[in-house]
Amino acid sequence: MQRFLLIISAFITGLTSCTGQSGRAQQERDFPVQKTEAEWRAELGDKAYYVLREEGTERAFTGKYNDFKKEGVFTCAGCGTPLFSSETKFDSGTGWPSFYDIVSDENVLEEEDRSFGGVRTEVVCGQCGGHLGHVFNDGPRPTGLRYCINSVSLNFEEKE
Ligand code: FE
Repeated sequence: MQRFLLIISAFITGLTSCTGQSGRAQQERDFPVQKTEAEWRAELGDKAYYVLREEGTERAFTGKYNDFKKEGVFTCAGCGTPLFSSETKFDSGTGWPSFYDIVSDENVLEEEDRSFGGVRTEVVCGQCGGHLGHVFNDGPRPTGLRYCINSVSLNFEEKE
């Protein structure tokens, strides 16, 4: 019987570490902006909820900010925090809006993402924890970084 319980508990531990859900839930409690799932769902709508709160990805070349060249600041669609400046936006050819830098270290945080069998670096809003996209090391100078971001995670405030 004891051996059986051991096997069961090992199985459950394996399950939770595979999905990563327990870690994610833990992080979300720590973000300054807190809303219930029902509030997020109502405020964001289906597409933005799927990307920001469920770590989804919009289809390439479908987002409103992919081919977008106005001057201003891109903010979090979940909570309004400034995230990226148009000055650091570049055409990566990937089909997603891409930036080589962030507005500040507090506003955009990095998380390890082990989904899809690899290790990528996820980027999330530092205020609400919303999923923005991923950062890669193949960007242009001066940082060499490429923040690959979902349009639906962003809003835009045009420079006056
Ligand atoms: Fe946010």
